Amino acid sequence: MTEPPQSTPSTNNGTRHLLAFVAECPAECPVCDYSLRGLTQPRCPECGAELELRVGSPASTSARGPWR
Ligand SMILES: [Zn+2]
Repeated sequence: MTEPPQSTPSTNNGTRHLLAFVAECPAECPVCDYSLRGLTQPRCPECGAELELRVGSPASTSARGPWR
């Protein structure tokens, strides 16, 4: 299987980081739990939900941490 040519016009940094993230880390659609690994556009191919990369820290979710 060959990769399609990268004909995507200049995407913003957020999109680039999002795609770089899902290319290396297993991620799932927050809406339908579809696997987003290897995603080529910031949109869920299953349900069409637009995606965005958010920066989070386990320390910020003190109410749900496994240590509480
Ligand atoms: Zn989805």
